[in-house]
Order: sequence, then C-alpha cells, then structure tokens
Amino acid sequence: MVNTQFDYIVVGAGAAGCVVASRLSEEPSVRVLLIEAGGSDRSPIITMPGALSFVYQHRQIQWGYRSGPEPELGGRTIDEKTGRVLGGSTSINAMICNRGNPMDFDGWADDGLKDWDFAHCLPYFRKLETFADGPNPWRGGDGPMRISRCKASHKLYDTFLRGGEQAGFEVTPDHNGYRQEGLHVAQSFIHEGVRWSASRAYLRPVRQRGNLEVLNQTLVRRVVVEDGVATGVEVGDGALSRVITCEREVVLCAGAINTPQLLMLSGVGDPDQLRAHGIATVAEARAVGRNLQNHPGVDLQFATRREDSLVSELDALGQVKLGAEWILRRKGLGTTNFFETGAFLRTRSSVAFPNVQYEFLPLRRAVRGGKIVAVPGFQFWVDLSRPESRGSVTLRSSDPAEHPSIVFNHLAVRQDVVDLIDAIRLARRMTRQPAWESYRADEVVPGPDVESDADLERFLREKVGTSYHPSGTCRMGVDADAVVDGEARVRAVARLRIVDASIMPRVVTANLNAAVLMMAEKVSDLIRGKAALAPADAPYYRAPA
Ligand SMILES: Cc1cc2nc3c(=O)[nH]c(=O)nc-3n(C[C@H](O)[C@H](O)[C@H](O)COP(=O)(O)OP(=O)(O)OC[C@H]3O[C@@H](n4cnc5c(N)ncnc54)[C@H](O)[C@@H]3O)c2cc1C
Repeated sequence: MVNTQFDYIVVGAGAAGCVVASRLSEEPSVRVLLIEAGGSDRSPIITMPGALSFVYQHRQIQWGYRSGPEPELGGRTIDEKTGRVLGGSTSINAMICNRGNPMDFDGWADDGLKDWDFAHCLPYFRKLETFADGPNPWRGGDGPMRISRCKASHKLYDTFLRGGEQAGFEVTPDHNGYRQEGLHVAQSFIHEGVRWSASRAYLRPVRQRGNLEVLNQTLVRRVVVEDGVATGVEVGDGALSRVITCEREVVLCAGAINTPQLLMLSGVGDPDQLRAHGIATVAEARAVGRNLQNHPGVDLQFATRREDSLVSELDALGQVKLGAEWILRRKGLGTTNFFETGAFLRTRSSVAFPNVQYEFLPLRRAVRGGKIVAVPGFQFWVDLSRPESRGSVTLRSSDPAEHPSIVFNHLAVRQDVVDLIDAIRLARRMTRQPAWESYRADEVVPGPDVESDADLERFLREKVGTSYHPSGTCRMGVDADAVVDGEARVRAVARLRIVDASIMPRVVTANLNAAVLMMAEKVSDLIRGKAALAPADAPYYRAPA
C-alpha cells in the first residue's frame, strides 16, 4: 500500500461498494480505501454473458454459503451464491435489470423514510444508467451502468409473450419506466456483448485515481469501534492481522450476509448473542441480522421437441460457434444471459403491486453428473416479489473466516405458500393458451399430476430455492429498532454507515442490483454532503382498484 492515511474506508467492492468508492474519490482531496475479500474479475467466464452457468459453478469467486437447516422446508439447506470477487455479486449475477415497483419505495416512505419515496429515488435510478433506447423522464442517458433491451429473437420468447396476452395480461413497453406490471421483453446489464458489472462500470474507469486505493484479497475481520466511534477496520489473517484507520467514516458495503456478520464480530448486535460467542458488546443493536428477506422461487419445466427449444443451437458445434462468435466479434449467443422475457404479475387483486415474478428461459436446465446442462424444453423461474416470511443471519463463531448461520425461513407464512401455488397455476394457464398449441409442451416439473393444493405445497416445500436476493438484515428506518437511519448511519455507532442490500427495509419487487446501485448513488451524495438530486415528478402505473 502507498497510503496509510484515509478519510474513508469502504468495505466490499460489490454493487454498492464500487459506486461509493468511485463517487467519494471524485473529490481529489478525499482519500478512499476500498477493501475486497475476493480477487480480480478479469476472467472471460465473468465477462461473457453466455457463460453464466460456468460462473454459477465457479467456487473460487463465491463465498460458498448454504442456508439452513430451513425449518419449513423439511430441514433442507439451500445453496446461496454470493460473489467474492471485484464487483461482488454483480460479477456473478444473471445480469437481469429490473428496478422494482415505484410502490416499493413509496412504501418505504410510508414507514417514515420520507426521502426514499419513488420521487426521490428516480433521479438516482436515472443517474446510474445509460439506457440503450435513450433517455426519457424515467430512464437515464449518461450513467455508468449500461443497460440494453434484449433481442428476444428465439420463437419461444414471443410465444411466452403471446401466451401471456391470451391469458389476459398486457405487454408493458418498459417495465423499468412508467409501468412495471405485465409481461415484458427483458433488459440486461450487458453492453456490446459483455457483462456490465459494478466493477466494470464504476471501478475500472477510476482505478488510476491517486486518491483511491483498492486492496483486494483482503478480509475485513471487524470494524474498530472506540468509545462509540468507528475509527478503522482490522484486516488480514489471525496473527498477521492489522488495523487500518480512517479520519471520516467507515462504510460497510459487504452485502446482506456479511455486513451483519461484520457488525456482530465488531461487538454491534444483540448482547445475548454476542456474549454466547465471547464478543464484548460495544453497541447494542438487537435488530442486526434480523428481518432477512429473499425471493423464494421454483423452476417450472416443460419438455418440447429439440428443434423447438433454444437447446437445438447449443450442441457441440453450436457451442464452438457461440465461443468463436463472442471472442471474435462479441456477437451471437455468447452475448445473452438467456433470460430475455419475463413478467411481473398479480395473483390476487388484494395487492396493489405485482406479487409474483416470472423469468422465462427457452431451454430447460437439468443437473447431469453434478453439472448444470441444457436440455430440450423451456422453463419459468417463478418467485414471490414481496414474501411475508422473515429469516435471520446469526453468528456461528467469533472467527471471521467462519460462515454465519443463514436461515431464510421460506414458506413460514401461509400467504407465501398460497401465492406460490397460485403463481404455478397462473404459469400453467399461460402455457395452455393457443400460442403454445404447435409445441408439444409436456410439463415435467412439477408434472401434470401435481395439482391439488396439498400436492403443490409438498412440491414447494421440497423444491423452493433462492433467487439470490438476501436483504433487509440491517434495516433502515426511523424507529428505535432500525439498524441505520434514513441517511444510512448506524444508529448505535458514530462515523459508521452501511449501504448495500442489507439496509432495504423491505425487499423490492425485482432482482436487487439496480435498487442497490440506486441506494449507493443516493447515500454517496449524503456522505459527501451534496444536495440531493431534485425529486422527479414522473408518474407511474397503478392498477385500477
Ligand atoms: C447468482 C446471483 C444471481 C443474481 N442475479 C441477479 C440479476 O440477474 N439481476 C439483479 O438485479 N440482481 C441479481 N442478483 C442480486 C444482486 O447481484 C445483488 O443483490 C447485489 O449485487 C447486492 O449488492 P451488495 O452491494 O449488497 O453486495 P455484493 O454485490 O454481494 O457485494 C459485497 C462485496 O463485499 C465483499 N465482502 C464481504 N465481506 C467482506 C469482508 N469481510 N471483507 C472484505 N470484503 C468483503 C464481497 O466479497 C463482495 O464483493 C444476483 C445475485 C446472485 C448471487
């Protein structure tokens, strides 16, 4: 390291950390240290969108978490992927770009977070992106994240949309614009054929700044808190660990699993739990690690003739072509994440927001010999947008290298089971429309015999998995129990902020990347003492009551 004196230490170079480090270091006199446990993200499998299934199986760039035992899922454990690499989870995610429903943010404001309503968040959503279709009152035209609309040229994508329309739903022209609800052609964090991670967008262009230091392959073990004030962090392994101090603030961006773990390792948490692990309490904050939310979901799979599925283009020759086209021209199937259509729908009229999300794949994924392979067919990933069940992240040990315990508690609340059963039935209804008639689409998972409520519930308890959207474990709020206040400051410790998925008070109706980037842009302005961007007045769609 060149510098040893810093104003800010940012922990974690994921979605939020890359934004915060980049924005804070725009001020040349401010010295910023960004610390990341993982290593370089310069790998073709990270860069090539079509290599997603290889990224998912690449253990070296992940933390390797498992949730569970899950009490409502027969004690199962669930593989919970989280990026441990520059870019964090944005370097391993599926690149789907969905912002969330405007009502999500208005809901946060209804709970007292007045400056987090949609009108205040929209200018930051616009600031973070360059949308390939051009700017408008909802979309940005000159931000670091490049977002493109998928081509969705395979015939099954169109069939998905037509089947949905025939089932009574509308195609929305831009689900990240005026209207989220409905069927849509997907948008992705992909530009000119490559993954547009937070690292690529925010970090790489500024790595040469003299006032920004990036320390990767370095584990932060705890935040150093002296007399109620965060003064630095302890990094490194056991006996070789050392303390790095900073003069202004420590900003935790370690994600919804690691941030609460770090707080607890630092003595900030529930005193009873800390005592059980021999950790002295420096600040009581009982809510740390609680309120864990996620989007629980399942795959629904249908078999088709090989020639009707995208898998027909992915035989050995097809894969060689895919690789060659991508390497030589950044074209072809290597440039897609394969999730090119989707939907946000309501299964009941008692909710104002779409309570279920569908991601459609024109091929079927199966596990053969321990590997994920594509087979003829298509599938829907069906998940709950705003589940009621809550889980927790707790310590297993005072050793920072040991994984915390993660329990999602999926399907603990009856309404979640009901909504997922209805979501499966709704997907089936869409596939029974005339648009699908010319395809031999036999349902293979869960299978046509799994029809009664009891059978579908059994299927769900056996198969429900994760959309990899842990959030809410260091909840932002105005009440005494909230971990951070509306400016993302840890209530119990001075000069310590958190911005990442952990501070979402309530998970958004979407994959989380865009919302986390937006929050990080907004909190960066707060840290810098800059005037917030003026609230927007763009309207948004509400379903008729
Ligand atoms: C497999 C997968 C698929 C997904 N697909 C999508 C998608 O298609 N679209 C979408 O919008 N969202 C998707 N997401 C979710 C999205 O990527 C995350 O919600 C988002 O990246 C969270 O941002 P974050 O800043 O909270 O944490 P992260 O991006 O996870 O960053 C946290 C960073 O902190 C580092 N860190 C943690 N602890 C320490 C420590 N003690 N010391 C040093 N460094 C540390 C980590 O290594 C990591 O780099 C997906 C996530 C996964 C895992």
